[in-house]
Parts: sequence; C-alpha cells; structure tokens
Amino acid sequence: MKEEYGSMGHPHTPTPLKHMHYFEYKNNILYSEEVPIEKIVEAVGTPVYIYSRRTLIRHYRAFDSAFQEVPHIVCFAMKANSNLAVLKVLADEGSGADIVSGGELYRCLKVGIPASKIVFSGVGKTRKEIEEALQAGILSFNVESPQELAFIDRIAGELNRKAPISPRINPDVDPKTHPYISTGLRENKFGISMSVALDMLKSIKDYPNIQVVGVSSHIGSQITKIQPFLDALEKLLSFVEEVRNMGLDIKYMDIGGGLGIRYRDESPPHPRELGEVLVPRMKKAPYTFIFEPGRVIVGNAGILVTRVLYDKVNEGKHFKIVDVAMNDLVRPSLYGSYHEIIPVVKRERPLIKADVVGPICESGDFMAKNRELPDVQPGELLALMSAGAYGFVMSSNYNSRPRVPEVLVDGDSFYIVRRRERYEDLIAGEEIPEFRKV
Ligand SMILES: *Cc1c(COP(=O)(O)O)cnc(C)c1O
Repeated sequence: MKEEYGSMGHPHTPTPLKHMHYFEYKNNILYSEEVPIEKIVEAVGTPVYIYSRRTLIRHYRAFDSAFQEVPHIVCFAMKANSNLAVLKVLADEGSGADIVSGGELYRCLKVGIPASKIVFSGVGKTRKEIEEALQAGILSFNVESPQELAFIDRIAGELNRKAPISPRINPDVDPKTHPYISTGLRENKFGISMSVALDMLKSIKDYPNIQVVGVSSHIGSQITKIQPFLDALEKLLSFVEEVRNMGLDIKYMDIGGGLGIRYRDESPPHPRELGEVLVPRMKKAPYTFIFEPGRVIVGNAGILVTRVLYDKVNEGKHFKIVDVAMNDLVRPSLYGSYHEIIPVVKRERPLIKADVVGPICESGDFMAKNRELPDVQPGELLALMSAGAYGFVMSSNYNSRPRVPEVLVDGDSFYIVRRRERYEDLIAGEEIPEFRKV
C-alpha cells in the first residue's frame, strides 16, 4: 500500500489519512492493479506511460466527496492529462472540465463532457476559440482582462449569443509553491486585480452580450498548505459581496485547482482535510462552487516506465542512461522536480548514487541527479512514479523522438489508449517545396 496525498496529518485532523494508488509490488514485481508492468512492456515496449483507472476513480471520488455538503461542480483541469480514455473515465464519474484551448474543448466534447460543465480559463483566448466555446454553450468563460471581456462581448454579439463569464480574480495570495506554477500573486500574468475587476463590472451594462454568472480564481499549483486556499476563498467571498451589491446575480464561485500531491516527502492536505476547512465557510454562502483540480486527480494515477540502456562511470561519477528523455517527461528539467524512481523488479542489489539521464543532446536532459538507487543493470526496467500529471501532455518530438504510448490499466486488463508514434507521424504535415534552380 502506498500512501497517497500525504499522511503526516494536519492540525485539523489528528489521525493520519492513508490512501493508496494502484501501483505496488507483489512478490517483488511491480504491478498496476492486477497487471504486471513487465507484461505491458512486452506488448508495447519502452518508454511507456501507464495509468490506473481504479486510481483515477478513487482520486476523483475523494475530491468530489470532500465537498459533497455544498452544491459544486468538479471541472477536471484537463491540461494535466488530456488523453481521451482518461477523460472518459472522469466523465463517467460526472466530472466537468476546465479547458485552456480550443483543442481541449474538442477533446472533452468528443468524450461527452456536457458543455454545461465546461469552464474556459487562460489569458490568451483567440477569436476562433471563443466562437467555438460560444457555439458549444459552455458554462463560463473565466475572463482574465477587460480587453478580453470586450472581445467576447463583440463575438457573442456577432453570433447572437449571450456569453456567460466569470472574471478571474487575482486574490494576491502567495501559494508558497514553485515560481513557475504560482499564479495568484499580483506580479503574475493571470487574473485581474479586485479593483480593476470592480471597475470592469461597474461598466458591465456597456457589454450587452455578456452575462456575469460567477467569479473565479486559481492561485497556483502543487500547493501543500490549506491556508492559501482559505485566504483566497475569504477574499473571493468579500469581493462577491461587493459585486452583488452592484445588483449582479452571482451563481458560481470557482476557486480553481492547485492542490498538491506527494512526489517525495511533501505532506499536502488530503482533499477531505481541505473540505473540512473550506466547507463550513462555503455553506454560509449561496453559491455553487466550482473546483478545477488537475494534478491531484491524475498525478499519482500514472507512471512512466523506462529501460536502462547503459551504465557509465566518469571519474567516479555514475550515470544510468535510460531510454526516456526530457522530451517525454520535461518536469525534472523544467522545474527541477522530483520523481521517485524504482525498479520494476526488486532484487538484492547494492545502492549507488547516480544521475539518471536520457539520450537527448542537452545537459538539462535528466530524470534525476545524484539519486540513491539500486544498481540496476542495462536491460532492466525502472518506473518513474507520479508521472500522470503534466507528463505526456508536455511531451514533444524533440530530437525526432516519436512520442511514447499511453496505456490504461483496468483490473486485470490493459488498453493501449494512444499508440506509440511512428517515424511517419514525425513528418506528417511536413512538405518539401519545389525549389527554383539556383
Ligand atoms: C493549471 C490550472 C489548474 C489545475 O492546476 P493543478 O495544480 O493541476 O490542480 C486549474 N485551473 C487553472 C486556471 C489552471 O491554469
């Protein structure tokens, strides 16, 4: 059993909460649910992303039930993992979606997520994307600037529609997370300050094709404390009071995503603990609450499996060269983030300290630095844990490496939910023009 979400306990809950994900050893062999990882590798090779359906469902329900006492909609932030099969699992659980592009809208309509449960975030929505979202009839545009508001109003007018919007408020709360993933500070590009938002809403009558349905916020990602969420909620609640005093009927309060997970030794609150603090406050307010969790739903529901290619010792420095690279999983290079690395088959081996690196021609191409790990040999398999969020979705074809397959495990079966790319996929869409003679 693997601890999930964190187990150190929180001041509000004296008993540690244990949760499992379904990647565990049975007789020293790593399984996902009832399927040995080696069996999947035999079928599809390495590297490969493997997701567990049972874990996805468990995490979704843990989050959803944490807020069962208030009217709410969980809008999965699909930028964390947008594979259609993953989305379908969550859609079947009743999840909505937080989207940030027209492509994401396309995906979630494909799996049948109702438009009435889709919110659209992002600072740079294009005309095409706005038109598509209006035509689909989404729940709300989370508007990030006065110019965007005017633009949506104009497009809605052209399409003879009323655009539902929620200004995205920047509550100026420090989530105490990595600077690349903190979004709710004044200095971040996201959201609108409360005073600018109030001015914007005061002139809302100038925008006849807009209907203000809510307010929204999102303060950052991989947040491991409850306090920033509570601070943001309080600020949002007092902001909405002012908005209601202006005579606007606010139905939705979107408090964003950002709840962290355990990668290493973090002890983020369990969703239930977050609920225990936020729900009493929410209950007093007459809104339907929207949540946009991403990482906490999918992060620990996925792993990335790689094979050791070479073992190299340079002047006493040890490298394990593996077949996975920064184009497949960029988080270590981009954020210096930590993924636990474990052997797929456990056996007696000495521990060594090594850099785990990929084949790409960049010094930034590493999965781990100075990591203590068993001295696995070329040919053996390693699993990079907690790779379900911001993993495959951030992958690229850098170095002309075909993107790796994604597999979804369901009990004793598994499905290839995205096949490994072929060389032809790499050049699909490219063309060599008929050059003039020189
Ligand atoms: C990224 C993002 C989320 C999800 O963040 P997680 O940390 O994955 O929960 C939610 N809302 C918005 C607006 C986002 O940009």
